[in-house]
Amino acid sequence: MHNHVIPAAALDLLRRDAGYGVTLDGDQWSGAHHVPFTVVASFHDPAAKITEMDAKGIGSAVVSCPPPLFFYDVSRDRSIELCEASNAGMAEFCTTHPERLRWLAHLPMQDPPHAVKAYQAALLQGCVGAAIGTSIAGQRLDEPEFEEFWVAAEQAGKPVLLHPAFNEPHRGLEPYYLQNVIGNPLETTITVERLICAGVFTRHPALRLVIVHGGGFLPYQAGRLAHACEVRPEITVPPSDVWQAFGQLYFDSLTHNTSALRYLTEHVGHNHVLLGTDLPFDMGGGSGHGLGRSARRAGTRRGRLGERDPPVRSGGYARSQRLDLAGRRALVPVLRGQAAERGENHAALRVLVWAVRIGA
Ligand SMILES: [Zn+2]
Repeated sequence: MHNHVIPAAALDLLRRDAGYGVTLDGDQWSGAHHVPFTVVASFHDPAAKITEMDAKGIGSAVVSCPPPLFFYDVSRDRSIELCEASNAGMAEFCTTHPERLRWLAHLPMQDPPHAVKAYQAALLQGCVGAAIGTSIAGQRLDEPEFEEFWVAAEQAGKPVLLHPAFNEPHRGLEPYYLQNVIGNPLETTITVERLICAGVFTRHPALRLVIVHGGGFLPYQAGRLAHACEVRPEITVPPSDVWQAFGQLYFDSLTHNTSALRYLTEHVGHNHVLLGTDLPFDMGGGSGHGLGRSARRAGTRRGRLGERDPPVRSGGYARSQRLDLAGRRALVPVLRGQAAERGENHAALRVLVWAVRIGA
C-alpha cells in the first residue's frame, strides 16, 4: 500500500491542457499545488516500478495516484477527465505484472455524485479500492455532501486510502519543509478524528480506511480525543466510538523510525499495519526486509508491554475494548513477521493484494 504512480495517460493530458497549471519540463514537474519534483521512471514505467520494488525487497504493491494528481480545485470536467485517464492508465500499468500490481481508483471528490460514478466505473475496470485526499481542496470529508461517497465506499466492500492533501495553511509550518514533515501527519489526524466525531465510522461499520505515514499522530493521541469525549460538550459521540473506529482503520508502516513502528504495531495490532513506502518520492522509504525486522522486534516485546499497561496490550485498541474484531480480517497483515524477515515478503504481500482485490 501507499506506492505511487503517475500514469503516462495522465502525464499526456497534463502536457496537452495548460488548465491544470502543471509545467512538465522533461521529467521536472512544477506548478499546481505541489513542490517541484522529478517524475522518475518508476512513476509511469511498469518495468522501472518492478525494478524499484525488487531493489526494496517488495514483492507486490497496490499503487495509487499521489497528491499532485488530486485536482480537486479545478473544474469538474477537468477533474473527471484526469481521473478517467489516471484510472485507465493504472489499469493498463497493472496488467503488465498482474501477479504483483493492483491499483486504487482516483476520484473527482469535489463532486461526490460523480466520484461515486467514477468509483463504480473503476471497480468494473479492476481497482481494489480508492485513494482520496484528506481534504478536498478545503472541504472536509465529514461534511454532509460526502455521505453518499461513504455509503458507496462501504457498499463496495473495498478499502479507501486517505492521503494528506491540500493541507490547511499554518504559518509555523512554512519553513524547513514542515508543511510536509508535520503538516501531512497533522492533516491525517484532523481528518480521521473529525470522521470519528461526526459518527462516520459508526454509521458505516463495514467501512475500512487505510491511513498513511503510520496514521499521523492519531495512534499516539487517540486517548486525548477519548478523554475529550467524556468531558467536553462539543463532542457528542461516546469515548467508545474512538476505540471502535480503530477496528476499521489500517495503518501504513511509514514511520521512518523503528521505535515508532514498534509502538504502532503494539497499539493497533500487527494485523492492522500494512507495508507502506510512499515510493518513489524522496520522503518515501521502507523496505520489505526492514519491515520484517521491525515486526519481529515488535513481536518479542508484546508480552512485556501488556503486563505493564493492560489497556494497550497486544492486539491493539480494539481488542483492549473487547470489540468485534471481524474487521481485522478485512485486510491480511503484512507484518506477520518472519516471512518478510526471510525476504519472503513477496508471498505475504501477494496475500494482501488478493485480500484487497476480493474485499475480504
Ligand atoms: Zn504518498
